Amino acid sequence: MSAPNLGQDSAMSAPNLGQDSAMSAPGLKHDNAKSAAAVYVPSGDRIVFQNVSRFYGEVLGVNRVNLSIGPGITSLVGPNGSGKSTLMNLMAGLIQPTEGRVEVLGISPRDPERLFRVLGYCTQFDSFPRGMTGLQFVRSTLRFHGLSPAEAEERTWESIQRVRLEDAAHRKVAAYSKGMRQRIKLAQSLAHRPRVVVLDEPLNGLDPMARAETIAIFRTLGAEGLSVIVSSHILHEVDQISDRVILINQGYILAEGDIRGVRSEVKGQPAQILVRCSQSRLLTQHLLGNPTVVEARILPDDAGVLFRAVDADQFYEAFESAVVSLKLRVDQLRPTDEDADSLYQYLIGETGGIS
Ligand code: ADP
Ligand code: MG
Repeated sequence: MSAPNLGQDSAMSAPNLGQDSAMSAPGLKHDNAKSAAAVYVPSGDRIVFQNVSRFYGEVLGVNRVNLSIGPGITSLVGPNGSGKSTLMNLMAGLIQPTEGRVEVLGISPRDPERLFRVLGYCTQFDSFPRGMTGLQFVRSTLRFHGLSPAEAEERTWESIQRVRLEDAAHRKVAAYSKGMRQRIKLAQSLAHRPRVVVLDEPLNGLDPMARAETIAIFRTLGAEGLSVIVSSHILHEVDQISDRVILINQGYILAEGDIRGVRSEVKGQPAQILVRCSQSRLLTQHLLGNPTVVEARILPDDAGVLFRAVDADQFYEAFESAVVSLKLRVDQLRPTDEDADSLYQYLIGETGGIS
């Protein structure tokens, strides 16, 4: 790749890119005043990607990414190999863009000393230094941050309490369950009180109980005004907790925003509505006469009929009059495409994504 390496030395003095380079994501604004490390934090409370591409030799990692991510919980969702870890590693400065520029709260990830005062990072990999207890693992990285032994001890416990691993703190990480290992990694990324936490697949491998507890921690962090960036290849795992979802596939951002915003970003795509009622065949025949209905699929086992309509409002109007004139009993009427899961299937399913 002969792409010019932009932004190498201009990043330090760059003004806050976040405000006008953003896509139209409905960013949340929280008050960050109480966060730590304020001394090092320049203006700007956003993570900004400006026309960022990253190639691994000839292999595309991510392509022409423009993002502006504010405080709250943002989920990066896409199948394996879609570029989630690439984006996260770019935020953390572990890799550099082939093109374009990244800024985290106004700091270039090329400046790790400043960056890691405001950023906590948690890899997707399940590997730890050998022989360490949970406590030692968290405390040792705090010492790298330059904290005194006493400060490091205090923050370590604060963080371990946050993920509720007090009882296991003195046990070796090697003896932890997968859920405990995920949580001690989380504790480690939070211990220095960052304003941004980048967590790569933090829910992977957790049982439902551990997942619920971990999600509760994310919510608290989001409510405290942190920017919490979480990746997942399972959308329904994160759609409920996220202030914002970014869908990525094959290195491209497909859509971003809240779930509804994401849906409306996919312009010109029909709405999908599930109906269960008496005489569903009769209803289907009736509604297929309406120009807004482009498809009707009768699902097996009396599961209902899945309609696709160009205009949802027109569909509901036609549906209501059909119910009245045909005297139907309606058991269920539900849009199926405003939850992220079906959207996701929609976006990266059979058709291979929107063009
Ligand atoms: P995800 O985290 O969504 O699974 P990644 O960001 O790890 O996706 O990978 C995106 C693409 O970049 C994939 O095609 C992957 O094979 C490729 N890739 C990632 N890391 C490397 C690397 N170090 N060397 C070569 N290719 C890589
Ligand atoms: Mg990954």
